[in-house]
Amino acid sequence: MNPSLSALGGEATAFLARPHLLYIGGRFVPAADGRTFGTYDPTTGQYIGEVAHAGADDVTAAAQAARAALDGDWGALPPSARALLLSRLADLIEQHAGELAELEALDAGKPVTVNEFMDIPAAVEHFRYYSGWPTKIEGGTLPVHLPDTLCYTRLEPVGVCGQIIPWNFPLMMAAWKLAPALAAGCTVILKPAEQTPLSALRLAELIDEAGFPPGTVNVLTGDGTTGAAIVEHPGVDKIAFTGSTAVGRQIGSRAGAAVKRVTLELGGKSPNIILSDADVEAAVAGAFDGIYFNSGQSCVAGSRLYVHRSLYEDVVDRLAEKTREAAVGPALDRSTMYGPLVSAEQYERVRGYIVDGVAAGATIRAGEVPAAKPEDGYFVRPVIFTDVTADMRISREEIFGPVLVVTPFDDIDEAVSLANDTEYGLAAGVWTRNLGHAHSLAKRLRAGMFYVNAWAVGDPAAPWGGLKASGIGREMGRANLDAYLEVKTVWTIHGTE
Ligand code: NAP
Ligand code: MG
Repeated sequence: MNPSLSALGGEATAFLARPHLLYIGGRFVPAADGRTFGTYDPTTGQYIGEVAHAGADDVTAAAQAARAALDGDWGALPPSARALLLSRLADLIEQHAGELAELEALDAGKPVTVNEFMDIPAAVEHFRYYSGWPTKIEGGTLPVHLPDTLCYTRLEPVGVCGQIIPWNFPLMMAAWKLAPALAAGCTVILKPAEQTPLSALRLAELIDEAGFPPGTVNVLTGDGTTGAAIVEHPGVDKIAFTGSTAVGRQIGSRAGAAVKRVTLELGGKSPNIILSDADVEAAVAGAFDGIYFNSGQSCVAGSRLYVHRSLYEDVVDRLAEKTREAAVGPALDRSTMYGPLVSAEQYERVRGYIVDGVAAGATIRAGEVPAAKPEDGYFVRPVIFTDVTADMRISREEIFGPVLVVTPFDDIDEAVSLANDTEYGLAAGVWTRNLGHAHSLAKRLRAGMFYVNAWAVGDPAAPWGGLKASGIGREMGRANLDAYLEVKTVWTIHGTE
């Protein structure tokens, strides 16, 4: 038996015993063609169970159910009722936080304690924040040039939204996607990643329990072909995607051809800069968490570190010391801070980059090349590369694993040009005690998010997203609500009678 299963509580165990079906039109159903796929535990590599694999017919059924809800019960709800449902869902997630944290650990290899303090509360907060919006979506009256005319705007839901999410923060990504769409009055077809379907299916049960009208949210588990069928479906008005830049480009071009609304949250290779006047201890702690949190499987990972030459050796030594102490282990072990990578495929990918870095002449200052074949789970201990050049693949490409490249610089202009030398533009940051430097760098670095003496802090109210190849549009805040609303302009020439 998979040893991870013995660490699960009763609720998670009961969930695993139920069949893992698609959620379409308020019912849990098998795929129309009966297909299923297996999901696996990254800590042990062992099989967990079978999950329904949605195909094109299921996408059509979900699109019809979502349209019917939009034109029917969901669309007819007053804003305050939408708000109440969102807030009820937040409460239900909170009530089942322990179970969800365990399922996420089992299916995605994410440390259970991290899920408890971060992922699950963040999902709850997201639904709570957006539950405040439905009652505050206001159009305007416009001061137009014609006399005796009323011109006003209505903000209306975009319609049926296809939402495609990755495996690195499965439940949290579902919340980031669903909450603004539902607050705006849209209906949704959500597709979790094939590596991590379970928490989204448990969320579907909670959505059902909260009392959302059937068809408001539909959850289709499957693979990239399921995602592609959602993107292609003519009954889907908007696509919201988080994942790799390669797939994001494809989705963007397909959506463009169909003139569908699209928002994309893609990859990054985010630079983190330590200036000579930084608080070194805080900077090292922040740089460490910035790259190794979630075992480096984070779009916002601070994977390129630039350190002023006066601090360089000290910072590298301190980081190396911390990597040796990092609690890497089974996701359901409560002392683990860094779990395994999500899959054998991701292990291979990350290992390939480490091998490539060594071959290119970089030095491994901490960590090691992982074994060609992992013995059980997909564990990779934190790696630090020095002696890197800007043209190496480990310096340019998103590795999505616990691999940091560290480079010294001599002056701020050099740091800025090194940091901006990337196709990505998700996040950037600086560690300094000088406010002038901090805000000058905030302006000069090409990134959607900039951190001063911090990394990857977030709040549902604060826009999140990237420039350049890191995406189009923003999650969170009013910005993401707007991404699910269309503006309609209404003209009335009423005369003076
Ligand atoms: P991915 O292929 O971009 O997958 C993300 C989501 O898109 C998954 O739900 C995936 O389904 C779906 N998908 C795949 N092909 C599709 C298509 N042609 N049309 C519509 N949907 C499609 O990412 P991945 O393979 O899981 O990870 C690969 C790399 O992406 C990572 O190593 C990392 O560099 C990057 N990544 C970035 C983020 C981020 O937050 N920016 C998150 C995850 C991964 P299935 O997974 O079920 O096939
Ligand atoms: Mg899994």
